[in-house]
Amino acid sequence: MAEYLYPEPVVRITDARELARDLVVIPNRGVQLVPNIGIIGGTHSVLVVETGLGPRNAETVLKFAADYAGDRKLYLTTTHFHPEHAFGAQVFTEFATFLINKAQAEDLATKGAGYLAMFGGLGEPVARQLEGIELPTPDLVYDNSYDLDLGGRVVQLRATGRAHSKGDQVVTIPDAGVMFTGDLAEAGQFAIFPWFPPHDTDVSGIRWIAVMEQLAAADPQAVVPGHGDIGGPQLLADVHDYLQLLRDETWLRRDSAMSEETIIEEVTALMIERHPEWAGREWLAPGIGCLCAEHPA
Ligand SMILES: [Zn+2]
Repeated sequence: MAEYLYPEPVVRITDARELARDLVVIPNRGVQLVPNIGIIGGTHSVLVVETGLGPRNAETVLKFAADYAGDRKLYLTTTHFHPEHAFGAQVFTEFATFLINKAQAEDLATKGAGYLAMFGGLGEPVARQLEGIELPTPDLVYDNSYDLDLGGRVVQLRATGRAHSKGDQVVTIPDAGVMFTGDLAEAGQFAIFPWFPPHDTDVSGIRWIAVMEQLAAADPQAVVPGHGDIGGPQLLADVHDYLQLLRDETWLRRDSAMSEETIIEEVTALMIERHPEWAGREWLAPGIGCLCAEHPA
């Protein structure tokens, strides 16, 4: 992963669009390490979902959100602790209440510094955005579920339990039928498995599949993935089916005591054949490795 050169991960507000009444998405335009960012309004408050990578991106987001909010109160949440989602929160400190689930706060505290160091190895364009990052501390932490009243609109913040990370949360706006999934769902690419043994083995393919079933049951009309184009409920089904296939094909070979190296080779080829247009092929080997480790012995 360290040799992989990423383009400049810059949030651009020019393509911001209203997805529903008083609900705007700043799309990531397919740029890696830029997340889809949400701004959700109620009569007295506005919630920002994700900061972008580093203080300069977060300043762009904060300025846009503050203009949008006018005299409404600002809240910030992040779907999980990964740098492009949360490592800009420091910029919001005096302007917004930063609210996340407990498991995510623990991820930030225990793994934030390690991820900052790892991202420093992703090349000069990424390193530029990392300059000046201070790991954020949330103002408000909830256990599993929090209903945030923005005035005439209640947003549901829900911790899903371990999946893409230990501290994933999804943000749902029931009156608009919109769900922000963070990296539990990505569109047009293979699911991101941050499987970096021995440093980070918190991602769980098995738990992830179960979480996708729960999210699909909520039946949102619009799904804003962590990265890639906004979709409908089919996006949740696509991610679920991909993860299930990845598990089945991996375990089938693991059952026959095939070496992990050969499993990765065969399953990678199979998945690329199935989804030739998907980006993120570098996430196949980590995903297969994770599922090998989760194989019931
Ligand atoms: Zn992530």
